[in-house]
Amino acid sequence: MLRDEDRIFTNLYGFEPFGLESARQRGDWDGTKEILDLGRDKIIELVKESGLRGRGGAGFSTGMKWSFMPKKTDGGPVYLVINADEGEPGTCKDREIMRHDPHKLLEGCLIAGFAIGATACYIYIRGEFYDEGSHVQQAIDEAYAAGLLGKNACGSGYDYDIYLHRGAGAYICGEETALIESLEGKKGQPRNKPPFPAMAGLYSRPTTVNNVESIAVVPTILRRGPSWFANLGRPKNSGTKLFNISGHVNQPCTVEEEMGIPLKELIEKHAGGVRGGWDNLLAIIPGGSSVPMLPKDICDTVLMDFDSLREVKSGLGTAAVIVMDKSTDVVKAIARLAKFYMHESCGQCTPCREGTGWMWRVMERMVKGQARVEEIDMLLDVTKEIEGHTICALGDAAAWPIQGLIRHFRPEMERRILAYRSSAERGAARMAA
Ligand code: SF4
Repeated sequence: MLRDEDRIFTNLYGFEPFGLESARQRGDWDGTKEILDLGRDKIIELVKESGLRGRGGAGFSTGMKWSFMPKKTDGGPVYLVINADEGEPGTCKDREIMRHDPHKLLEGCLIAGFAIGATACYIYIRGEFYDEGSHVQQAIDEAYAAGLLGKNACGSGYDYDIYLHRGAGAYICGEETALIESLEGKKGQPRNKPPFPAMAGLYSRPTTVNNVESIAVVPTILRRGPSWFANLGRPKNSGTKLFNISGHVNQPCTVEEEMGIPLKELIEKHAGGVRGGWDNLLAIIPGGSSVPMLPKDICDTVLMDFDSLREVKSGLGTAAVIVMDKSTDVVKAIARLAKFYMHESCGQCTPCREGTGWMWRVMERMVKGQARVEEIDMLLDVTKEIEGHTICALGDAAAWPIQGLIRHFRPEMERRILAYRSSAERGAARMAA
């Protein structure tokens, strides 16, 4: 269990004000100029050494991502874009950072922007996060007034502006290139890659897009040293992480814990356990709605980090843990997710546009048992045709929950189909009699 002195988000629950004075008392903006004085290359090297992997879902090395930015440009603008469009079902960790600790994010934006050679930063926030956006804007205003942002930010000689941009509620705008399109004032649709944003991103300029949590942890890592962060968690899965725990638990919560904590311990210690006790557990989606669910026997032992969850054919994703007890209609739950992805598909590519609708319609029949047993394999085949064959990861995100359902709950799907068939046969026999 994470020691209190190793917590990064010490105001996660908002017991203290979010403003600058209070943030400074918590250690934010302390020695920021000295960090910038280390220089671009050194900062990137230290972040790589810490082992920080992106907290938005993909888990790619943050320092490595920064190093893809061109070292020399033509003198035109270079951008850092913060993905604060948190829309993954079950996920509300970035919301807590922006609501209660916005200065951690802003200081991280300054350091990250400096490291990648950015001239400005845009924070693209989910439109529904009204209060959080207001807190971030107030923090930006405070930081400008205190000389921490703007011309000669923190007395470093570096000029840097941060702008807040509110989105309009589209899940797909959480995909980095759709977010960039939306920021440019266009319809939020993902772009084909390459070119990657590091070469041609916002307004076709070099751009890095990072998640809120990934950036908000950077100042603390650099103040405490990369080895402190690297020694938390497990090899290649280092540091602390915000977990959202929702569903059938006694105390749904957001908590900062060490990467690699056992899933069972996370739920028992922080969320008051599963409703009705651990034995009443049916399944858990461990990383937001886009990753495959896991049945209880795997949940008994699995660790919460990128590599452990990949080994059991799931993923850490956004680390949003959705708990389902035995009262859950698991087929219906996944059918509901299928509807969500169909609704959120931008419609650009055929496998996703057509496939998400097709999967939802079949899943609706599966819920009622009004399908054929052979259609389970057909459904699985369709998920495989969608996976990896689309412009963005929404196609994968729509396919994986259904794959997880079939992998672990095929007998339940078959049982429904057979139950429906025998009740239909009984009905027909009664009619004939
Ligand atoms: Fe749009 Fe879906 Fe294709 Fe992504 S995978 S670009 S959401 S149609």
